[in-house]
Amino acid sequence: MSSNPVVLITGGGRGIGAATAKLFAKHGYDVCINYKADQVSAQQVAQDIKALGVNAYLLKADVADEQQVLALFAKVDELCGKLDVLINNAGILKPQMPLLEMDATRINEVLATNVPSAFLCSREAIKRMTNGGSIVNISSGAAKTGSPNEYIDYAASKGAMDTLTIGLAKEVAKRNIRVNSVRPGLIYTEMHRDGGEANRVDRLKDKLPLGRGGQPEEVAAAIYFLASEQASFTTGSFVDVAGGL
Ligand code: NDP
Repeated sequence: MSSNPVVLITGGGRGIGAATAKLFAKHGYDVCINYKADQVSAQQVAQDIKALGVNAYLLKADVADEQQVLALFAKVDELCGKLDVLINNAGILKPQMPLLEMDATRINEVLATNVPSAFLCSREAIKRMTNGGSIVNISSGAAKTGSPNEYIDYAASKGAMDTLTIGLAKEVAKRNIRVNSVRPGLIYTEMHRDGGEANRVDRLKDKLPLGRGGQPEEVAAAIYFLASEQASFTTGSFVDVAGGL
């Protein structure tokens, strides 16, 4: 069994997940890095983490698929023997368009990736958090704005995640498991390129009160805070990391 505390980060191989993985490692955690496709980037993150003197495990799984989630957690059991923190970070975003142009394939893909992954991983994590634990869901400012004409499907998926945070926090409080959420907004990651807009953050940053886009490390700091004992009386809460938006 790991002698260090253990964190599992879904989609931990790049972007916000990778920054979060490195921050937990700096705080002495053994880090389970889940990825789906980008093995090269995930390997680099694992290498950086091992240089900090803790363990890093690369775990390939599509966390929207129940069988793969079960296999992922079985692997965490085998490698670490426990789990203290789960970060539900994996998510996808499609190119911007109004609802009138969206087809069912796209809507289903976004909802079927972003929503069940958090539910399934939370369920499996809770089973293992026998001495308490902490879950942080990575939502989005879009859950509050609805992202009209852009990503209403994505916004709705994050809204579902927010309801999970609110309900699950109450459901598992007696087990001493806390469930909180971070809502990033306009952070420089590949996600905005996947949406077909390399410079979406640059294009919109002037609309943010702070006048700039955010860095993944700035989101990771809020995630770590909520997961840590510093936030021991905080559950069912939301932290915006969105430059004042
Ligand atoms: P990236 O696109 O850089 O990273 C997304 C990560 O999710 C990748 O590591 C990817 O893995 C993983 N992923 C996607 N689908 C799956 C899946 N089915 N199974 C396992 N892993 C999966 O984006 P960000 O770092 O920006 O996004 C991280 C989170 O932050 C997301 O939930 C996103 O919605 C949220 N967010 C981001 C904002 C931003 O401005 N960047 C704003 C608001 C919220 P792989 O690379 O292996 O495919």
